[in-house]
Amino acid sequence: MGNIINVKELAAKYKEEIKAFALQREKEGKSVPTLATVLVGDDEGSKYYLQSQTKVAQSLNLGKVNLQLPAETTEEELLATIHDLNSDRNVHGIMVLFPLPKHIDGKKISAAIAREKDIDGVNPVNAGLLFMGDRAFVPCTAKSAHTIIKETLGDITGKNVVIVGRSNIVGKPLAMLLLADNATVTMAHSRTKNLAAITRAADIVVAAVGRPNMFTSEYFSPGQTVIDVGTSELDGKITGDVKTDEAVEVAEYVTSVPGGVGAITTTILMKNVCEASELEQ
Ligand code: NDP
Repeated sequence: MGNIINVKELAAKYKEEIKAFALQREKEGKSVPTLATVLVGDDEGSKYYLQSQTKVAQSLNLGKVNLQLPAETTEEELLATIHDLNSDRNVHGIMVLFPLPKHIDGKKISAAIAREKDIDGVNPVNAGLLFMGDRAFVPCTAKSAHTIIKETLGDITGKNVVIVGRSNIVGKPLAMLLLADNATVTMAHSRTKNLAAITRAADIVVAAVGRPNMFTSEYFSPGQTVIDVGTSELDGKITGDVKTDEAVEVAEYVTSVPGGVGAITTTILMKNVCEASELEQ
C-alpha cells in the first residue's frame, strides 16, 4: 500500500515562504507583489477560479487587481488593456483568463503580455526560453506537478518519467522541466500504442489527459510515483484521470484529486508573482 502525497502541507510551506517574502519587501519599502487578472465576459469557471485566487492573494498579503471586461470587448481594446498593465509599475504579474470570446485571438493576447510579467508562462517567448533551458516563467500547472515530484523524490537523475498528455500548458512544459533535471522523459498521447505497458515501465507517471478514472491499476507498478493532473467533473464531483484507490494499492506515492496538483497551483502562481516583483526596474 502506497501513500497519498500531502500536497496541502507542501502548499502551506510555500505559503509561509511567500508571506515572509512579502514582509521583507515591505520592510525594504518596495511595492506589494501584485497580480492583475483580466476576465472578458463572465465565464463561471473563470469567476470561481478568480474568487479563490483573490482569497489566496489576500491571505498572503499580496496585491490583486481584478479587471472584468464585457464580452463585446474587441481584440484591440483587450490588447490596449494589456499594454496598460505591462507599463503599470504597481502590477508585477498579468493573467488573462481563458476561454476568451471567439472573436479574440488568444495567441495574440498571450504574446502581448510582457514576458517579465507573464507569470503563467503563456507568452511564446517564455516557452522558447524554457525550451532552451533558460530562466523562464512556466505554466503553473506544469510547475506544480514538477514541484510535487521534486519535493517528494529529490534527485530524479536517470528516472524514467512517462507524461500522458502533450498540451502546451501541461505535458510539454513539464517535459522540459524534467529533462533539465536529467530525467528520461517519454511523452504519450491519444495515438500512443500499448499505453499501460509504457506507464508500467516508468518510475514516475504523470496523467494529464482529462478522462476521469482512465488510469486503473493495470497502468501502474510497485515503487512508482503517480501525479494526477486531470480535473474533470463526474457525477457532480471533481475527478482525476487516475483511479486513486487502485493506484495507491500498487504505486508508492500518488496525488489525489482534489487535494493534489490543484491544491498547490494557485500558490505556485503567487510564487511566480513574487519572482516577477524582483524583476521590476
Ligand atoms: P488537453 O485536452 O489540451 O490535452 C489532453 C492530452 O491528453 C492530449 O495530449 C491528448 O492527446 C491526450 N489524450 C487524450 N485522450 C487520450 C487517451 N485516450 N490516451 C492517451 N492520451 C490521451 O488537456 P490539458 O493539458 O489542458 O489538461 C489535461 C487535464 O489536466 C484536464 O483534465 C484538465 O482539466 C487538467 N488541468 C488541471 C489543472 C490543475 O490546476 N490541476 C490545470 C490545467 C489542466 P492528443 O494530443 O493526441 O490529442
